[in-house]
Amino acid sequence: MSERVAAYLAGEREAILERLLRLIRFPSVSTDAAFAEGMRGAREFLLDRLRAIGLEDVRLLEPATPVPGGQPAVYGAWTGAGPDKPTILIYGHYDVQPADPLELWHAPPFEPAIRDGRIYARGASDVKGSTTIAVETIAGFLATEGGCPVNVKLFLEGEEEIGSPSLGALIDTHRELLVADAMISADGGGAAGAVPRLNIGCRGIASLQFTLRTASKDAHSGKVGGALRNALHEMARLIATLHDEQGRVAVEGFEGDAPPLSNAERAEAASFALDEAAWYAEFEAAPFGDPAYSVTERTTLRPTVEVNGMWGGYTGEGGKTVTPAEAHAKLTMRLIPGQDPAAAQEAVRQHLLRHAPAGVALTFHHRPGGTRAFTLRADHPLRAAAAAVLRREKGGEPAVTRLGGTVPITTLFQERLGIGSLMFGLASSDEDAHAPNEFFRLSSLDEGLRLWPMLLSELGRMRAADFRQG
Ligand SMILES: [Zn+2]
Repeated sequence: MSERVAAYLAGEREAILERLLRLIRFPSVSTDAAFAEGMRGAREFLLDRLRAIGLEDVRLLEPATPVPGGQPAVYGAWTGAGPDKPTILIYGHYDVQPADPLELWHAPPFEPAIRDGRIYARGASDVKGSTTIAVETIAGFLATEGGCPVNVKLFLEGEEEIGSPSLGALIDTHRELLVADAMISADGGGAAGAVPRLNIGCRGIASLQFTLRTASKDAHSGKVGGALRNALHEMARLIATLHDEQGRVAVEGFEGDAPPLSNAERAEAASFALDEAAWYAEFEAAPFGDPAYSVTERTTLRPTVEVNGMWGGYTGEGGKTVTPAEAHAKLTMRLIPGQDPAAAQEAVRQHLLRHAPAGVALTFHHRPGGTRAFTLRADHPLRAAAAAVLRREKGGEPAVTRLGGTVPITTLFQERLGIGSLMFGLASSDEDAHAPNEFFRLSSLDEGLRLWPMLLSELGRMRAADFRQG
């Protein structure tokens, strides 16, 4: 059955590619209200497509009480497989990051250009390419077989790139509609490429922004320099206390109750053979980080505190002789399994307060929330199904990998719906997501249009009850 669907999708490839390019042309930047039209266009395109392929109950989902900055999700379902078959929630997102800085793009970011077997455009890799694969896979089953091997509920988020402000409320409002046995995400994964991967987890995230003050106002550096604290100097000193020289987080109590890395986790991390020298070479950067852990462990199973931005004083053209009284910093923390976002944020806050000298005042701008890390349990049927597909299609045992980033939906669905998720996206980590000249490989599109039908078929061999054990 899946072979027939894969063959059908291969035959439809040009039409599928054309639809993907149309979706990409909507500048659906969720963070900026100036792009509301692009957001609306992408939503309507998807609503039309889901209706056209024969999904039921196609509509926009919003929380009962609107949340500021929230964006509706696109939903559609097909439940004809019957109650004995698993119900799989399929996740993707239609929003994208801003394209700035525009001057670094070789071509306009929302006019997809195909060069060297790649689609260059904002959102191509993250994550309209893989979202299209998910939608078209369902379309392929419905067109050739008149039904899917499992019940499917397609959920396409519109606020992934802005930290999903209303997603929790949205899930609570539409709980009944979203009930499922498991979730497959088109975001995250790395199923494409030479080394087959099973992506079973991601780090969590918390954030913190603060302002540091040293005086009531900026002053002439010739008059006060040497006698007044400079806010930027104090900020640099304070930020430097967050890590030791090897980049280890030096914040007391930061990891909280998180257990140490288990042997099983370390063995899984080692199953993906990373060429560390090549990894650093790609960034033209020198090796760095805690030598007790491999680069894979540092980037997926160890926590971080990262300064994402620091500013203050004069940064314009030319010079200005000023002693700034105020400096600002934005921090995010990547969290490991067992780490609580609020507790991690509080540990950093306390650390900063403890290390700020007398005469330096800190004001914190809390962004509430944060997301815990997610891990798909070792005996979950999704692991077995995806591993079987990858073994068959790619040969060899898939490496078990984790995402260093955060896919909040995996944690939210675990916490609110009690279901596990597998990230089965086709994007590769070198495709410059969030950066200028983002691209998606056409070969990954083709690969996804085989792997996804195979995965749904494999899950169709299972019973709904298989997912409810354990
Ligand atoms: Zn993204």
